[in-house]
Amino acid sequence: MPAPDGPRVSIDGHTRLAFLLGYPVSHSASPAMHRAAFAAAGVNGAYLPWAVAPAHLPAAVEGLRSMENLLGANVTVPHKEAVVPLLDDLTPEAEAIGAVNTVIPRSGRLVGDNTDGAGFLAALQEELGCRPEGLTAAVLGAGGAARAVAAALARRGVRRVVVVNRTASRAEALAAHLTARCPGCDIAVQTLHSSWQASQVPEIRLLVNTTSVGLHPGDPPLFDYDSLPAEVVVADLIYRPAETPLLRAARRRGCRAANGLGMLVHQGALAFECWTGVPAPVQAMRDAVGS
Ligand code: NDP
Repeated sequence: MPAPDGPRVSIDGHTRLAFLLGYPVSHSASPAMHRAAFAAAGVNGAYLPWAVAPAHLPAAVEGLRSMENLLGANVTVPHKEAVVPLLDDLTPEAEAIGAVNTVIPRSGRLVGDNTDGAGFLAALQEELGCRPEGLTAAVLGAGGAARAVAAALARRGVRRVVVVNRTASRAEALAAHLTARCPGCDIAVQTLHSSWQASQVPEIRLLVNTTSVGLHPGDPPLFDYDSLPAEVVVADLIYRPAETPLLRAARRRGCRAANGLGMLVHQGALAFECWTGVPAPVQAMRDAVGS
């Protein structure tokens, strides 16, 4: 197998290890991103994809506990929720989201954090100049990414979050979860279908696509894209392809719009900082994943 492109990893007796636990993990951009970060920041670390079948997740977490040179771990689909009861503590972010994407070893304990939501907010501000405080937002989807985005928006002071999902029961479950944890934010639900219109959300200023629609060429429109007013900021969590049909339509209608690459980079940068205690080389991480 040819060696991957990018900075060379030099492993010695002092190298500290970080892992990505997921199933599958072969598609992930995170190993390249963190390899570049270690090289740019001069951290003696290695980041390894670890394909863990669901039945073996408890054993994998025990394996992390046994590793005295553990730097940390990321957790991805399908383990973000299943890992919660296997850890010792949760940060308030992970608690609010109900899922973990980052594990931090701290004084012999494993702490579960979630940097997806904060990564999303950082990208929203950096790439779209959008500060969501006081706004009304529509979050399309009710899966794992929607939980992180909606909780981050609610905790940041968004006035109203409308969860719009194809399966109504999933939207209602997410709304109930958020209402219990973020009492200052008004949470509502709507059903997503191809003729749904942005105007169904009064005073909408932000629309976030967290569904997987747009990943594959030929995916049908998620809703009536011609209903997007120009003043709505549009964020799509998908980053490959770089421009989804939703983003293309949003830009055509005059909306500010960005894909999910910034969120990917910032959630990784926040995890890197938790593990190493040094500022993340954000530009090197961004360059490694292609922007
Ligand atoms: P989940 O499987 O947990 O959720 C998928 C969501 O997509 C559900 O709400 C599902 O609706 C909806 N959906 C799927 N197909 C359709 C369809 N044909 N029509 C309407 N809705 C549909 O996935 P995740 O939440 O983990 O990830 C979602 C997306 O976010 C992925 O594309 C992923 O790559 C991206 N992502 C990006 C990140 C980044 O850093 N940029 C981070 C995390 C995720 P239903 O409930 O009805 O099935």
